Amino acid sequence: MENKTLVSLIHKYGSPLYVYDAEKIISQYNRITNAFSTVKNLKLNYAVKANSNINILKLFKKLKSGIDTVSIQEVQLGIKAGFSPENIIFTPNGVSLEEIEEVSKLGVQINIDNISILEQFGNKHPNIPVCVRINPHIMAGGNHKISVGHIDSKFGISVHQVPLIMRVVKNTGMHINGLHMHTGSDILDIDVFIAATEILFNTATEFKNLDFIDFGSGFKVPYKEGDISTNIEELGEKLSKRFNLFCKEYGKKLTLMFEPGKFLVSESGVFLANVNVVKQTTSNVFASVDSGFNHLIRPMMYDSYHHIHNISNPKGRERYYSVVGYICETDTFGSNRRISEIKEGDILCFNNAGAYCFSMASNYNSRYKPAEVLLYNGKDYLIRKQETFDDLLKNQVIINLN
Ligand SMILES: *Cc1c(COP(=O)(O)O)cnc(C)c1O
Repeated sequence: MENKTLVSLIHKYGSPLYVYDAEKIISQYNRITNAFSTVKNLKLNYAVKANSNINILKLFKKLKSGIDTVSIQEVQLGIKAGFSPENIIFTPNGVSLEEIEEVSKLGVQINIDNISILEQFGNKHPNIPVCVRINPHIMAGGNHKISVGHIDSKFGISVHQVPLIMRVVKNTGMHINGLHMHTGSDILDIDVFIAATEILFNTATEFKNLDFIDFGSGFKVPYKEGDISTNIEELGEKLSKRFNLFCKEYGKKLTLMFEPGKFLVSESGVFLANVNVVKQTTSNVFASVDSGFNHLIRPMMYDSYHHIHNISNPKGRERYYSVVGYICETDTFGSNRRISEIKEGDILCFNNAGAYCFSMASNYNSRYKPAEVLLYNGKDYLIRKQETFDDLLKNQVIINLN
């Protein structure tokens, strides 16, 4: 996306603003399908929580993707976007039996991640096939908040408890049609990923009626120059071969599934914000923008790095700035960043804003959530309006305190 285009979009739609480029989403999607082209039955389920704008979902529908959901509301959004229930998988963590049953009634594939619910569901609905989420206990790096594979993680059923799963299956007469793992949101090393898949293949031999194996996600994208990212082509080459071989041993052409979020949408998005104040203190130069962690929480929540550049003055002399938000507590987007000279009124652009940015936005400090724009086939489309004062009050019940 060119600076000139982005500046014109912020003039057209206002600041701050999220902008997504459909072309980048499509090319990332195609990268995975091409990398696994030798697997006959490949199914990608986009992880809705990364970016749940209904138009983004519709784009994935157009690409013939399925979706991975973690709440009944995400399932409903998916159905609203046109997905048929067979193309939706429900992979929640710690939700109630009632919610799981409600989603199951819609015809959606259920993925269960604890023995207690597995047993209760199996007792009541022995005829509905379910997938189980296995925790292979492979650590896949990243921030401790998003690493989900360790031994004391709340996610999945430990691979050491497969005998217990078997006992539940036998006692209830239920049918396990899929195995799943999701090792956390930062696969740095393909060999680590492959090691985890070996554990899943090994487990799969114990289940005789599988239709699919879902290897989750955790694919990493670059956030700055020199960053390591998942080499999806290399992973495709290695895992496709192994998967096809496994299917031969298993005696059935299983479906290979993935459920990437970040990989598909992170780089497609930018976040644009206007610089309100440039403030020099005794030791620092702050650039304060008309936004904060209410709109983009990843730097404060995960210490994540979002590259920041000044699209109003891209060729200016580079200086060092701390870019901060307007929230009334520590609210830092980036410390000591080298950015071309910033004046008040300039537009800063934050990269990698397509995943876990708008979807984690809030109204903290009673600010409106920003608008979202999608660039598609050379045109810009407003896909969400900025909120208004009415939105802030919408569900508040004003009582009489006399
Ligand atoms: C969040 C999540 C994903 C997507 O993870 P990314 O790192 O964004 O690719 C996939 N599967 C499950 C079960 C998830 O909870």
